[in-house]
Amino acid sequence: MKEIKARLIERIKRTDTVESFRFILEQKALFLPGQFLRVILDEDNRENKLMNKYLSMSSSPDKDYIEVTKRISSSEFSKALLDLRPNEEILVEIPMGNCVFRDEYKKIGFLIGGIGITPVISIIEYIVEKKTDTDAYLFYSNRTDEDIAFKKELDHWQGINKNIKVFYTVTDCQPKDKTCTFGFIDKELLTGKASDLTERILFIFGPPKMVDTMCNISLELDCKKQNIKTERFIGY
Ligand SMILES: Cc1cc2nc3c(=O)[nH]c(=O)nc-3n(C[C@H](O)[C@H](O)[C@H](O)COP(=O)(O)OP(=O)(O)OC[C@H]3O[C@@H](n4cnc5c(N)ncnc54)[C@H](O)[C@@H]3O)c2cc1C
Repeated sequence: MKEIKARLIERIKRTDTVESFRFILEQKALFLPGQFLRVILDEDNRENKLMNKYLSMSSSPDKDYIEVTKRISSSEFSKALLDLRPNEEILVEIPMGNCVFRDEYKKIGFLIGGIGITPVISIIEYIVEKKTDTDAYLFYSNRTDEDIAFKKELDHWQGINKNIKVFYTVTDCQPKDKTCTFGFIDKELLTGKASDLTERILFIFGPPKMVDTMCNISLELDCKKQNIKTERFIGY
């Protein structure tokens, strides 16, 4: 793990409340798809948890930039990120986390709510770029159609790689988008779409409550504990 200067090169609005930030690192940092970093906005006080926060990489490790994606809130941390100017430098501590994709995983599944999608993007982008023969099912839940971050990218990837399947669910109102279904990720949806769920390595990323719910459902469906990988986005 190293502390490295990161220069902002681009910002991309994903939804009304989600924004990506792309940086060039001063030195190359190796990381595995699924890992995260710590953004240090208060360099004088590393213990300042309000200004130094963890964000997952939302780009493949093979890119020449790193991308992180934040659900924007009214916090000082969010404001400081939005205030960054092009070419401004910040400090990041990278890489962190053990919930990673490895090339030998041939069948995987993701059970994701909202902002938990960020490390999934790193993993799927990596799978697509490396042309691995991984069979990947993504169950991705959001409140409304408008809240689905990275939908364009995910639709493109499942269009060019027949081993990638994405199931979108929307929980708060009937979706306008025909590619989304109404409701939560539940046992019925999972067994209906993935009869081989117990054979898959499952990744569950996101806010702690959502991770716990998805973990319980997977265990009730007889998935093995050792095949379930979780990363709790503490701070939500
Ligand atoms: C491994 C990991 C990976 C993560 N990856 C991502 C990611 O890719 N994208 C992303 O957006 N987030 C990610 N997070 C979460 C991120 O680190 C932040 O915690 C989160 O984005 C909220 O930050 P904020 O500044 O918007 O919080 P805030 O809006 O300040 O707070 C969020 C919630 O915490 C409460 N809260 C805040 N401060 C306090 C306090 N002092 N006491 C009690 N409650 C408080 C608020 O009331 C609110 O409900 C990740 C976290 C972890 C651990």
